[in-house]
Amino acid sequence: MSRSVRVRFAPSPTGYLHVGSIRSGLFNWLWARHNHGVSVLRIEDTDRSRYVEDAIDQITDSMDTLGITPDEGPRQGGPYGPYIQSERLDLYHQWANTLLETGALYRCWCSPERLADLRTKAQKAGHAFKYDRYCLKPANVRPLDEPNVLRFLIPEKPASIAWHDAVRGRLEFKLTDLDDFVAIKADGYPTYQFANVIDDHLMEISHVMRADEWIPSTPKHLLLFQAFGWEPPIYAHLPSVQGPTGGKKLSKRDGAQSVQDYLKEGYLPEALMSFLASLGWNDGTTQEVYTTPELVTAFTLSRIQKSPARFDRERLTWMNGLLIRHMPRGELMSRSESFWPIEAADFPLEYRMQALRLIQERLKFLSEIPELTDFFFIEPHAERELLTKNYSSEEAAIHLTRLVEALNELTESDWNESELERAIRKLTQKHDLKVGHFFGLIRISITGRTSAPGLFETLDVLGKNTSLRRLQAAQSALSS
Ligand code: GLU
Repeated sequence: MSRSVRVRFAPSPTGYLHVGSIRSGLFNWLWARHNHGVSVLRIEDTDRSRYVEDAIDQITDSMDTLGITPDEGPRQGGPYGPYIQSERLDLYHQWANTLLETGALYRCWCSPERLADLRTKAQKAGHAFKYDRYCLKPANVRPLDEPNVLRFLIPEKPASIAWHDAVRGRLEFKLTDLDDFVAIKADGYPTYQFANVIDDHLMEISHVMRADEWIPSTPKHLLLFQAFGWEPPIYAHLPSVQGPTGGKKLSKRDGAQSVQDYLKEGYLPEALMSFLASLGWNDGTTQEVYTTPELVTAFTLSRIQKSPARFDRERLTWMNGLLIRHMPRGELMSRSESFWPIEAADFPLEYRMQALRLIQERLKFLSEIPELTDFFFIEPHAERELLTKNYSSEEAAIHLTRLVEALNELTESDWNESELERAIRKLTQKHDLKVGHFFGLIRISITGRTSAPGLFETLDVLGKNTSLRRLQAAQSALSS
């Protein structure tokens, strides 16, 4: 039976959500949009010991800033709410009672100590822990008011459970390998397994896209679906996201930071979108950067890859630079507003636009703007050591004096790139100077740096007064 597409992203608020984990949210959202379906955000907060206070806000903010706001969720509500599991406890208890009655769930009073002991024994014997069903024996049943949990009775038959995973193909697990897992804990909260299945059913989820670390849980989910007599969703397990060299889980050092952290550094949401989409998916072409509508059109489950994805931050930076280079300058200016050095506010917009023109080509992320542009707004300090890198102080001072004289002759209206180039090259030839050395000296004098945008463009943008003032200041610093 084909159903309309309803997908969910179901993070647990156990810490801040890094970009690698929000990839599942993006894939779900893209699949919903691709099918004109519905995307749901469900907060799975049943592990109270790991609950982190502001994690829900961070998750919803991250989705909003990426532009993948869900159609239903804690903020927007919806007909299948509430969307926070801790607000759905009555539902889980109701459904637990149903399975208690059918015998699919049973009560277990075993103490943590007894269970720990069983675990140690299993470990020593070299096999996986499986609950020994002590409490199933009528003689071991205890009063209901003593702390107990509800366990799922793994059936004897069938011998194995299989499903067709939309990414992995056919997967099969032997039931004898499964433990009678807990469905309702002693604190009254459901476990992840139990709440997850009930909500996927009640929220009419058609496709479950989640990281492949959940594959071992899927047989338990399918057994629960079976026990309830419900139709399970289609599962699509996404490849894990590893660090750039592969083999290990993505770490903070590799770039596992929040979406907000990336935005603060001046990464564009659209670069993050294209980058995250590429973590385990491609459309079979060489295209790397996509607009959101392009991603929505191109995204299909059949092109999700099985092998782990590599999180290569340098590739993200490259994508970001590419988008910056192609962005209309006016838009780049308005989007980079908060990144400019404070001093820039005292200068006219046209001047800032010119500075932006000179750096746009090599700007990789917006927080580089102050470092690349500060000399446009702040008087540079040209260090003597740099000024005399290729010349003695006397020589450097003479070259600068001659330069000031030559440039002074240019009228304000001649102060443009080509006239500046003509005048400076003429001087270089006349005194038989090495281009690299002489241009370097000028660059350091006017910017305080050894690397900066093109020399003539920079002089042009700085203007006659500022350029000559800086050249003279460098000259007098050398002579003092
Ligand atoms: N709450 C689980 C997580 O934190 C969700 C797994 C699933 O999508 O089923 O990843």
